[in-house]
Amino acid sequence: KVHVEKVNKSYGENHVLRDISLDIAENEVVVMIGPSGSGKSTFLRMLNQLETPDNGTIVVDGFDISEKATDINKVRENIGMVFQNFNLFNNYTVLENIMLAPVELGKLDKVAAEKKARELLKTVDLVDKADVSVSSLSGGQKQRIAIARALAMEPDVMLFDEPTSALDPEMVGDVLEVMKNLAESGMTMIIVTHEMGFAKQVADRVVFFEAGKIQESGVPEQIFNAPKNERLQEFLSKVM
Ligand code: ATP
Ligand code: MG
Repeated sequence: KVHVEKVNKSYGENHVLRDISLDIAENEVVVMIGPSGSGKSTFLRMLNQLETPDNGTIVVDGFDISEKATDINKVRENIGMVFQNFNLFNNYTVLENIMLAPVELGKLDKVAAEKKARELLKTVDLVDKADVSVSSLSGGQKQRIAIARALAMEPDVMLFDEPTSALDPEMVGDVLEVMKNLAESGMTMIIVTHEMGFAKQVADRVVFFEAGKIQESGVPEQIFNAPKNERLQEFLSKVM
């Protein structure tokens, strides 16, 4: 479903991604962990072309996004992304936020988009918030709306970049619960997080990034209970 081969990315002298290769299968949930500055966000942002790789191949859903001829907007429609800071429209209502992309991009008419939005509010357990302004929501509620908004486009892949890092601790569980349900529904997901408990429970595979390289990857039991890479061992000793 997602195929990344020998991708490199530099910002000036800073070689941020070094020969990264990774394949993600349909329905797979991959959690990416690693220290600050190791390239995790850059990698995610490259998958939906918010960053361009210097070289290498990236194929998402059969579309080679490193090819100039590929319609990148089409590819983006199939990739949902959830950020640390929500990126919602604060002056719009919850319903308007969720309906916006499918209506603007001509995927659904307004009636269908509203129906879809109300269904998604059930999924994220915020049905009663449909008509309130986003600015009145808590961080955890905002993040659940951000997930609903991404799902409104019916993406094939969902990317999450530290979705709970900006939240008060008591809000984290609700957001992780929504993500867990999404994983169980079969969504293909790539998640950057520091929530190691969540990674253990939900990930099919954990990928450790360090200094722009994938230093180790494997099932959660291997990564957390029997890490081989020394840098991974050191990282885990700090975060667990
Ligand atoms: P964190 O855990 O702190 O979010 P990360 O693993 O997501 O870290 P990235 O944000 O991918 O790391 O950054 C990797 C490196 O690339 C860092 O050295 C960062 O300073 C640099 N970098 C990221 N984006 C840019 C940019 N737009 N311009 C220049 N340098 C950048
Ligand atoms: Mg980051």
